Amino acid sequence: MIDHHLYMLAVGIGNIAFALLMVPYLRSTGATPGLKVWMWARMAFGATQLLAVVRPATGLPVLAIAESAGWIAGLMLEAAAYAMFFGYPQLRRYLVPVSALYLLLACAASLNGLPHLQLIVYVSLAMGLGSFTTGAILMHPRLPGATALQRLIGATDMGAGATLAVWAVIVLAGHSVPQWGEAMAYIAGYLLLIVNGCGFILMSKQRDDARMERLATTDDLTGLLNRRAFFARAEAARLLALRLRQPITVLMLDIDHFKQLNDRFGHATGDEALVKFSATCMDSLREHDILGRLGGEEFALALPGTDLGGAMHAAERLRQGVLDTRLLTCGNSYTMTVSVGVVLIDPEEDLATALARADHALYEAKRNGRNRVEAGLVGRRRA
Ligand code: GH3
Ligand code: MG
Ligand code: MG
Repeated sequence: MIDHHLYMLAVGIGNIAFALLMVPYLRSTGATPGLKVWMWARMAFGATQLLAVVRPATGLPVLAIAESAGWIAGLMLEAAAYAMFFGYPQLRRYLVPVSALYLLLACAASLNGLPHLQLIVYVSLAMGLGSFTTGAILMHPRLPGATALQRLIGATDMGAGATLAVWAVIVLAGHSVPQWGEAMAYIAGYLLLIVNGCGFILMSKQRDDARMERLATTDDLTGLLNRRAFFARAEAARLLALRLRQPITVLMLDIDHFKQLNDRFGHATGDEALVKFSATCMDSLREHDILGRLGGEEFALALPGTDLGGAMHAAERLRQGVLDTRLLTCGNSYTMTVSVGVVLIDPEEDLATALARADHALYEAKRNGRNRVEAGLVGRRRA
């Protein structure tokens, strides 16, 4: 059968090793919210597990209280880390009084001669229910941005938490637990160490990766795709359209006399115009249309599955939408306009060539008085 002391020693060392590994990592990066608190939770659990190994030999009652305090501190730190990770830092306010209450109860129980095993059972029950609840929250379908990884951790937490809680309830009810039941409880505790330990770090990494990807692909001011991301997405759309033998059009858009707007009303108004312009365009586009800010007040748009006629229609709608947009800082005293060049991508040309043609059409729109949409010549006819 599993040796309780050896088990505690192994998981205790495991938890502390986890925490120590995280120290240099946390020092070198701007860590995800909650990760530092998570590290302290592992430390608290590890220290408590090692204390549980040495305590019986010392026979000191104060160490029994310290052990209970360690379990409670670990649990509460873990709950605080989850609260911070999921953006509910206000929950932390309740954790301190709840921990204090638990601690008080544990001290009172120890001082009143509650057998140590009993105390462990109560702590296991709290851990089991806590893990079950955390698991249920992670599995909740309405949790914002829930990922398959989160659900997997949630399922493990629920399973392991329920096993621990059932074990504790059976012991509390005075029944004897069969050997396989004891083994299940140990495995549940071990799973919580491994899955929760690695899981939280993986969830943090997943979130950091997504943030990095967002930073690398979006334009800070407008939230649109940046130049590189636009080219990548538009090229993928072009290749797909080619394979499906569907039309795809690209548009170049440039706000008219933008320099004048900046000079007259200031740079902040210019920025507001760029944000409003982007929002106006996004409002009038379909979900799979691809809009990016190439730089300054120049934008590019790819319309998969849309022929030249449809694209001219969309461009006209966009032009009108921009004309109707009012800027907060200049009210009715300024009307923003945009010029647009539209081309249908020829199956034999690449994206850069098509965009160059759209840019040429845009130049024509500027030359013909601005606030206009111009179609480019057909690729092959030009070539
Ligand atoms: P045209 O009608 O021919 O397009 O003239 P324009 O004034 O719009 O074009 P021009 O290229 O001369 O000026 C673009 C201006 O956009 C110059 C630059 O200072 C400004 N600009 C570029 N990026 C930003 C930005 O992020 N915010 C603000 N406020 N202005 C920007
Ligand atoms: Mg311009
Ligand atoms: Mg320009």
